[in-house]
Amino acid sequence: AAENITMVLYPNDISESGKELRLRQQYFLASASLQDVIARWIGTDGHEFSTFAEENCFQLNDTHPSCAVPELMRLLMDEHGLVWDQAWEITSRTMAYTNHTLLPEALEKWPVRLFRHMLPRLLEIIYEINARFLAEVARRWPGDIERQRRMSLIEEGPDPMVRMAYLAIVGSFSVNGVAALHSRLLTEGLFHDFYELWPEKFNNKTNGVTPRRWLAWCNPGLRALINENIGDGWTSDLSRLTELAPLARDADFRARWREVKLENKKRLAEMVEAETGVRFDPAALFDVQVKRIHEYKRQLLNILHVIHLYDRIKREDTADWTPRCVLIGGKAAPGYVMAKTIIKLINNVAGVINADPAVGDRLKVVFLPNYRVSAMEIIAPGTDLSEQISTAGKEASGTGNMKFMMNGAVTMGTLDGANIEIREEVGEENFFLFGLTAEEVEETRRRYDPAACIEADEDFKRVIHLLTCGHFNQVEPGIFDPIIASITSPHDPWFTAADFTSYVAAQRRAADAFRDQEVWTRMSIHNTAASGRFSTDRTMQEYNSEIWRLEPVPAFSVEEAF
Ligand SMILES: *Cc1c(COP(=O)(O)O)cnc(C)c1O
Repeated sequence: AAENITMVLYPNDISESGKELRLRQQYFLASASLQDVIARWIGTDGHEFSTFAEENCFQLNDTHPSCAVPELMRLLMDEHGLVWDQAWEITSRTMAYTNHTLLPEALEKWPVRLFRHMLPRLLEIIYEINARFLAEVARRWPGDIERQRRMSLIEEGPDPMVRMAYLAIVGSFSVNGVAALHSRLLTEGLFHDFYELWPEKFNNKTNGVTPRRWLAWCNPGLRALINENIGDGWTSDLSRLTELAPLARDADFRARWREVKLENKKRLAEMVEAETGVRFDPAALFDVQVKRIHEYKRQLLNILHVIHLYDRIKREDTADWTPRCVLIGGKAAPGYVMAKTIIKLINNVAGVINADPAVGDRLKVVFLPNYRVSAMEIIAPGTDLSEQISTAGKEASGTGNMKFMMNGAVTMGTLDGANIEIREEVGEENFFLFGLTAEEVEETRRRYDPAACIEADEDFKRVIHLLTCGHFNQVEPGIFDPIIASITSPHDPWFTAADFTSYVAAQRRAADAFRDQEVWTRMSIHNTAASGRFSTDRTMQEYNSEIWRLEPVPAFSVEEAF
């Protein structure tokens, strides 16, 4: 029975299914971690906890380990004899919380009855934390009952719930988002009440990725070319990549850069053909969107653009055509029917396009199954255009965007998550921007008219016609009706129709830029050169100095690792 606790990790990474096993897993892992640290502390310091908070910090990675707040209280009081005030002083000075999403359905809430049944002592402690917290809210805003109801750790109703994100905020001395926009939106929206109470708790730590895996290891061709020109110091100080920027003016260097990219595209094309049977021509524009399948990430917008390109070919609007290979990959949560339907649409559209001799090498489309880290190590180095097209305000940061940038892909993106910081670093001339801003999305929500967006754009009308007439599901009538309904609904939360026209225009600019290989290569070099900020080394230095209060230790030689 104990084995069951860690046998299966819940595969549903976005919306939580309210299952007992999940809470059991969370409690088990949080408690085990705390008990491990406390056992070591007692081993060296005995039962002296007065300096525990100075020497220890627990970074809550999302709300999944937020049981740690009441559990540390329980351990300190029930197992180690501290009184409430001492235990709270320690807990609230050692816990720090990182939020990873603004999507309300991803914020965990556990039924009070589940706690009462499984973790009754933790529920007692949560109630006590809440009573003391709401007294503080009442002191700050006397008589504001509505605010107390909003901020309570317990959501009232027929089936009362524990709000785990609020528990994490109340129990922590630091609350951070993972990109500048995301951290700002947390303080303005989701956690605004808490920001008003404790503005000093809130901060930003923009995510990063490791340049050892995501450049040096996965792209040996580019690693060698970079080392030849600026040495290898960049693997432990990624800001040194800025030394590549002047080389963008050197025609010989650009030719070498293109050779490396071509070899990486051949390697990616081999993988695509082995997995899907579809041949990608390495000379074409490799246009890639790989990430979990979710409506907010808008793989749907991507496939609408693909249908538009197909339509242009069929009506022979192909002057100055840029051959393009579109790769879409990613896993959907097992119960997410709309995400599965989007995958089905991508596959059906790919089937029609790849089988049409009139299309030929002008356009190829594949859905790559089983997207995973080892696949990304091949994909990122071989990509020209990185699709980061989420509805503005919905992608907390993104890290795929950073892996692509490091490997010299140019981003096609909305002003969302870390895309904003990527564009600031690389310059607007080296980034393809489109779409509504987060503010415009909120503004549009009240008067959104997708039918008008479709009516105003002849190309969009034709795409919708191809979908509604069943061109991609001739023997499967009606299967894409839910997709058509979502695009055309005034209540579509993802504003796919609102961004179609500007997306197609930006794609046209990208295609034009790619036809001038010297222009494109310059953009590519500038992207790698400007990616230094997105090293996780920078992220960790910020967590170290601003939250964990740790001193850096000397890095080991990266040469030894390779
Ligand atoms: C980087 C990565 C992600 C995250 O991608 P986003 O585009 O930031 O959503 C997801 N899955 C795998 C396998 C990755 O390598």
